[in-house]
Amino acid sequence: MKKLYLKKGRDESVRRFHPWIFSGAVAQVVGNPAEGDLVAVYSAEGEYLAAGHWQIGSIAVRILSFAGDPTAPSFWEDALAAAFEARKAVGLTESAATNCYRLVHGEGDGLPGLIIDYYDGVCVLQAHSVGMFRAKAQICEALKKVYGDRLKAVYDKSSGTAPFKAGLELVDGYLWQAPGFEVGETSVLENGHKFLVNWTEGQKTGFFLDQRENRALVERYARGRNVLNLFCYTGGFSVYALGGGAVHVDSVDSSAKAMAMVDRNIALNGFKPDQHTSYTADAIEFLANIEDGKYDLIIVDPPAFAKHRGALKNALRAYQRLNARAIEKVAPGGFVFTFSCSQVVDKEDFALAVFSAAAQTGRRVRIMDRFCQPADHAVGIYHPEGEYLKGLLLYVE
Ligand code: SAH
Repeated sequence: MKKLYLKKGRDESVRRFHPWIFSGAVAQVVGNPAEGDLVAVYSAEGEYLAAGHWQIGSIAVRILSFAGDPTAPSFWEDALAAAFEARKAVGLTESAATNCYRLVHGEGDGLPGLIIDYYDGVCVLQAHSVGMFRAKAQICEALKKVYGDRLKAVYDKSSGTAPFKAGLELVDGYLWQAPGFEVGETSVLENGHKFLVNWTEGQKTGFFLDQRENRALVERYARGRNVLNLFCYTGGFSVYALGGGAVHVDSVDSSAKAMAMVDRNIALNGFKPDQHTSYTADAIEFLANIEDGKYDLIIVDPPAFAKHRGALKNALRAYQRLNARAIEKVAPGGFVFTFSCSQVVDKEDFALAVFSAAAQTGRRVRIMDRFCQPADHAVGIYHPEGEYLKGLLLYVE
């Protein structure tokens, strides 16, 4: 392993297990590592602290191991087995009602730059760093060991997430398939509901697993309500709302591909076509044009409005505008489930944007619940930056 020495006094965050070393903390790099190489990190005094992937950019090292040896033959198997154990502990791996979950959530699992979602035997991997991209064959081997006969395929979907670097072949594809595995899509179970997941054609790894618990709350509150699901993707919240006894659900997304999946997911769960209507449309325009009071449960789950700090101010304004519209339009006694998945918008920022939105409408609004990401999208306690999903349940008089 190549070596790297920190500046004097810059070892503190590493000793507190923060998984990133910023380039400004680095005093000296020995041996000219290539991006993605493993480097050993030493304090200015020469004490070994950690090892991780070398990166070009403001984050110089993403740490894989503080005490151990990431070159050890069992490193990947041990790391993935530990991630599996954590999912097992919260009842996700042996559940009869749910057979899809996030196995690895980057820094939250001590594996910065790596996402692995599990869809009933199919693991979809996304590398967000060169180091993880280069490790994918080892990761695939480790997945085979962790899952054994249960594993059906490992699909690499890093082309949109790994930083493009000359020499990296960013082409998505299967790293491994069990004999007889049919490529394409699969149907998974989430809290007893069926969903088609297409990892090759779909957004992200194919499904937004992070809304599992929040969907269950929509199910709990949907009885007898007329529901509008904005930014619905493949209809996760819509299926749960119908499952919970909603009278009717309208689903809206700008992606025609996603809307085609919504129709299939509604049918797959045995609901009748007259219980649900699909709209391929801009959700913001759709909301602006509906009559007041038509819906008594509105779900607002937009894509991240701010992808970096510089976009924060505009994003907050956009959240405010969108939420003001939803609060204005919902029927008296109605619910608004509103979310933000922008990492740079923290829960206080978001609550403030929604508060401003409510004030703008002049309606009486109660916060009935607060949402976050589920257990399999774990946040490392030493890396609070891993928290990204937040939401509020509003009750509007
Ligand atoms: N609620 C979904 C996840 C939403 S992800 C679920 O539970 O699975 C955000 C979605 O917003 C994506 O499907 C994307 O296609 C859609 N989208 C982005 N911009 C949009 C717009 N202006 N109008 C409607 N949909 C939009």
